[in-house]
Amino acid sequence: MRPTGKLHLGNYVGALQNWVKLQHTYDSFFFVADWHALTTDYDDTSRLADNTLEVVLDFLAAGLDPEKCAIFVQSHVREHAELHLLFSMITPLGWLERVPTYKEQQQQMPNKDLHMYGFLGYPLLQSADILIYRPDFVPVGEDQVAHIELTREVARRFNQFYKLDGKPVFPEPQPLLTPSPKLLGMDKRKMSKSYGNSILLSDEAAVVEEKIKNSVTDRPKLTDKGSPDRCPVGNLHQIFSDRDRLAYITQGCTQATITCVECKALAVQSVNAHLEPIRERRRKLAQNPGKLMEIVRYGAEKAAKTAEGTMVAARAAIGLLQMDAVKNVAAKIPADTALRVPETISSAKNEEEKWDIRVATWLEQVNKVHPLKKDRRGIFITRKGRKVGVHAAGEERDGWNFEFENRPVNVLVLLAEDKNRYLHPYVLPPKFLQNHWKFGESADRWIRKVDGTVVLAIGNDNISIQEYEGDYSALQ
Ligand code: SF4
Repeated sequence: MRPTGKLHLGNYVGALQNWVKLQHTYDSFFFVADWHALTTDYDDTSRLADNTLEVVLDFLAAGLDPEKCAIFVQSHVREHAELHLLFSMITPLGWLERVPTYKEQQQQMPNKDLHMYGFLGYPLLQSADILIYRPDFVPVGEDQVAHIELTREVARRFNQFYKLDGKPVFPEPQPLLTPSPKLLGMDKRKMSKSYGNSILLSDEAAVVEEKIKNSVTDRPKLTDKGSPDRCPVGNLHQIFSDRDRLAYITQGCTQATITCVECKALAVQSVNAHLEPIRERRRKLAQNPGKLMEIVRYGAEKAAKTAEGTMVAARAAIGLLQMDAVKNVAAKIPADTALRVPETISSAKNEEEKWDIRVATWLEQVNKVHPLKKDRRGIFITRKGRKVGVHAAGEERDGWNFEFENRPVNVLVLLAEDKNRYLHPYVLPPKFLQNHWKFGESADRWIRKVDGTVVLAIGNDNISIQEYEGDYSALQ
């Protein structure tokens, strides 16, 4: 979704409400498309960051769960831009010029100069946004199926030019049609922020009441018979009222046996009953901006794991010289090889068994690049004879607590398993250990997330170790 600021009920019933359901069935990625906002609003970015956060707030308030799906901001996952650039090399201009919205929007916004490279290329950026996650499906409304078709064409073209080990890199994703019930704006036009006829997901109860009471209905006179299908209030009943109430107002409207005043009062009740828990969640979240930033950062990390996996494949298929081939370092762990601890860990009898499972998961990957010899429990030796201390812990409420004896090592590896069973390896090189020797001596060793950054917490000191995640250069 583009960062248009607070979302309205049209956005909610047309997409968001369905996403909340999908997150339980699919590995899902939902993001605020802030780069897309620049394709038309490049000349005024004063509200961009605030609007982005408002949309994130609405995502969360509506029920998207950061533990169940990835919720993030597009510009925080730079791989989207890299893939867009690569696609721009192989996409014929004609494909973009014939996208219907290209001409339509230029006509709709005559006062805006949209003869920009970014505006022409935005459907291709969308294709990159989609294909970077190599998805099976894209949840869209009927009107966006054409955009998915362009994405499928781009995937096909890339796969024709480039293959990885003889296989295509990208799938051709299918549209997953979102049931989007009709919802008129309060003036009977399409619900849209620019028309000023929308009810916001975050509107207070009294504001919702005011807007519904002032809406234009389908029965100018009390004696006129109307149709809930053609009335914004009727639409609200169709979405938010239970079956009995909907039957009551439908009968009353079509037979002119109820007044619009009564019908509106019932709609106010139904809409407010649905929105109250959403408003409550939003209020709580809005009070904690630090937590909000942590959530989008966490979402971007999750998304980047998959996105980087795709980029590794795409770069290799094209034949670009791989960074890893030069440095022989797995700097980041792509999703295909992401470290996921097997489910058996839940039935481990004690901490030692858990340690075995976590370390075995890690070694399986590391040994391919930097073989380690086991010395004794918790200590390994590199090819160059460096001593590597390996410790593992599962996520608790405050982070990860590492319990180990103080033994001299050259490199310290802290394996932090998160709540989704992904293992984050922090590889602290000799230089780091020399500078922070007191870490080894401290009895209380924690890794925590502070303001979205992973830190080593020793006494009152918080030392960032983010940059060492998955950086195996110390094991060469
Ligand atoms: S009775 Fe209800 S649905 Fe019918 S026109 Fe009036 S407000 Fe709309």
